[in-house]
Amino acid sequence: MQELLFEIKNLRAHVPSSKGNIVAVDDVSLSIKENECLGLLGESGCGKTSLIKSALGFFQVSNRYNDAKIQSDWIYPYQLEYIDKETWKKTVSGRAMYRGIDLLELSETERARYLGRHISYIPQGLQGALTPVFSIGEQASEPLEIHITNMRQSEMRSQVLEYLDLVNLADSRERYVLDPGKFSGGESQRILIAMALVAAPYLVIADEPTSALDVTIQAQIMNVLKMVKEEFNVGLMVVSHDASVIAELADRVAIMYSGRLVEVGDVVQIFHDPRHPYTQGLMSSFPRIIMMQRLSSDARPRLRGIPGSPPNPREIPTGCSFHPRCPHAKSKCIDQRPELKSTSPTHQIACHYFE
Ligand code: SF4
Repeated sequence: MQELLFEIKNLRAHVPSSKGNIVAVDDVSLSIKENECLGLLGESGCGKTSLIKSALGFFQVSNRYNDAKIQSDWIYPYQLEYIDKETWKKTVSGRAMYRGIDLLELSETERARYLGRHISYIPQGLQGALTPVFSIGEQASEPLEIHITNMRQSEMRSQVLEYLDLVNLADSRERYVLDPGKFSGGESQRILIAMALVAAPYLVIADEPTSALDVTIQAQIMNVLKMVKEEFNVGLMVVSHDASVIAELADRVAIMYSGRLVEVGDVVQIFHDPRHPYTQGLMSSFPRIIMMQRLSSDARPRLRGIPGSPPNPREIPTGCSFHPRCPHAKSKCIDQRPELKSTSPTHQIACHYFE
C-alpha cells in the first residue's frame, strides 16, 4: 500500500495590499502518496504556484523579493518598509505535512534540511531559475554540497554527470564548466530536472515544466519526466495550465480555480467524464482532450472553451467564484460557496448542482 508522503491542510495565503488583501490560496487541502504523480491544473493566475510556494514555506520570501519589482498598484516599493517580516509571516496559514512533519512550523534553517534533499522544486520560468554567474556543474552539485556531508569533489562531479546523462544533456562532460547562458531553454530545463534529482529526493514538484518551450522540446521534456516517474521511486507533482501535460503524466488530478480546488480525482475518470462545469469547460478547450473523449465514447464532444476571464484576485465573486462564467449558475451559486465534498472514495467536487 502506498504511504502518504505530503499533505496540505486548509492552506491559505494572501498578499497584503494597500487596497485590501489579495487572496492567492483559499483553504486548499490535498495529498500525495509515495510514488504517485499528482497533477495540479488550472488557468494561469489561479494560484497554483502560490499554493506550492506557500506549502514549501517561501511564498513570503519570494513575494517580499518581488515587491521590489512590482510596478502595479498592489504594493508600491516605498511601502515596503511598513510591511515587515513578521507581517509577511502571517500571510500564510494552514499545514503542509511532509511524512508527518509540518514544514510551516519549522524555522527557515530547519526547513532547509528538507528542501533539496527530501523535497525538490523545479521552479517555473527558466530565466531566473539558474544563476548566470556559476557553471551548470557547480549549480547542479549544490544539493549534494549542502545535504550530503563528506562527499568528495570527484564523487560529486561523477554523480552530477550521471544525472545530466540520465536527462540526456548532450556533451555533459565538456559542458560541465559552462555557464547557463550557453544552453538552450530545453537544455536548461533538463539541467534543472537533473539538479532536482541529484540528491535522491522523495518528492519532486515541477512547476510548468514545459511552458516557454517549443513543441518538439516539450515532447523531449515530457519523455524525461515520464522516465522520472517510471524509473525513480519518487512522488511527483506536476503543476501546469496545459491539460495534455497532466493527462500524459498524472495518476490523479486536482483542478484549481481562483485559489480553490474545484474537483479532485483519478485522471482517467476526470479527463473522460469531467463533472464540475469549470473542469468541463477546461477540457473542452483542448483539441487533444476532445479527440481522446471522442475516441472513448459515442458522444461527440465539441471544442468550446470557457467564456469570460478568471476573476481579479482582489475582487473574487461571492458564493461560487465560477458563477459569472458558469452556464448552469443559479441564485444559490451567487449566495453560497460550495465546499469540496467527496462523492466517492476517489472523487471530490465543489459544486451545488453537479456530482
Ligand atoms: S456551484 Fe453553481 S456556479 Fe458554481 S460550478 Fe456549480 S453550478 Fe456552476
